[in-house]
Amino acid sequence: MPKVDKFLPLSRPTVSDETIEEVVRVLKSGWLATGPLTKKFEKDLSEYFGGRSVLCFTSATAGLHATLMAMGVQEGDEVVTTPFTFVATANVIAMLGAKPVFVDIKKDDFNVDPDKIADACTSKTKVIMPVHYAGLSVDLDPIYEIANLKGLRVLEDAAHAFGSSYKKRKIGAFGDAQVFSFHPIKNMTSGEGGCVVLDSEYEQKFLNLQRFHGIDRSIWDRFSKNGSCYYDVVFPGFKSNLSDIQAAIGIHQLQEVETLNDRRRRLMARYRRALEGMRDKLHMQGIPKYDFVHSGHLFPICLQDAEKRDDFMSFLKENSIGATPYYTPLHLFTYYRDTFGYKRGDFPNAEYVGERVVCLPLYYDLEENEQDYIVEIIGKFFS
Ligand SMILES: *Cc1c(COP(=O)(O)O)cnc(C)c1O
Repeated sequence: MPKVDKFLPLSRPTVSDETIEEVVRVLKSGWLATGPLTKKFEKDLSEYFGGRSVLCFTSATAGLHATLMAMGVQEGDEVVTTPFTFVATANVIAMLGAKPVFVDIKKDDFNVDPDKIADACTSKTKVIMPVHYAGLSVDLDPIYEIANLKGLRVLEDAAHAFGSSYKKRKIGAFGDAQVFSFHPIKNMTSGEGGCVVLDSEYEQKFLNLQRFHGIDRSIWDRFSKNGSCYYDVVFPGFKSNLSDIQAAIGIHQLQEVETLNDRRRRLMARYRRALEGMRDKLHMQGIPKYDFVHSGHLFPICLQDAEKRDDFMSFLKENSIGATPYYTPLHLFTYYRDTFGYKRGDFPNAEYVGERVVCLPLYYDLEENEQDYIVEIIGKFFS
């Protein structure tokens, strides 16, 4: 058995020396908050996404929340989404007084089932919010078709999907709006942070105000030559602008992300080959018929026998392997049950996968012999 003498976590960020030097430069520059580097980071991201507008936030959660507001989601509205996601996706809907209307996933690829979306839309629906789970792009064409037919907006939770593509188009380079996360667990990081990518001029303006107190300097600028020290407040916005310290990290991560992702994809392919022979014990995320590029954010496996999962995870942990059951379907959490009346049995596919899924370590610095060790330990558990 390959020998491994350190704990192998689920994920670990890779930070280059250039990034560290850049952060030191910012710290010495005297300007730490939102400034020239945040502007540059947004410009670089915009180029990456084919020239679309990009606004950075302190987190993807803040970006999702602000974008739903910009899209006009209010108390009493409904937003259609998946229950098989991180809780941030639905929390931001609930925080606006709207109802997250869950639509079950497909059992094979763990993404929301587009065939079930139309039936979930009512006269109260404002937005459809798909999630590219693990970095596998959702089948977007039928979703945008429904949205266009019904006059709804689409907000893609693309927290897992930096570097993913759908039918040869980069996620973030087309569609209504996408939100990416730069939390250190994701494919690229700025320490904490996130960004929104979109085209609507109204929504851009709204987001720009929302992330900084609702302060509008342009109104005063219009009336006075040196008006920049005066400002108007047009609505009570929040405070979720990125700092230049974070942007310094993000700028370099963006230059490195394709390299980081290529490595993740290579390791993902190695896992697939190595685990193929254990089909009777576990299955992997299915491969859709449409053309796609996976970001390699997570590598989920699904145990055939749900009863074995806790023992499986304990066994991995005893052998210094970090594995995580992403995700518990949201409709099973107390708040979502009590507030919206969801119950066990409502989304059988999400429950099936939720009871069986385990995500395995996957990150740039994971070495091949370490991965071989993980596969051996898995084999040992089942034998
Ligand atoms: C990580 C994550 C978020 C939230 O990202 P933050 O930047 O931590 O706010 C939202 N949705 C999904 C699916 C995520 O995995």
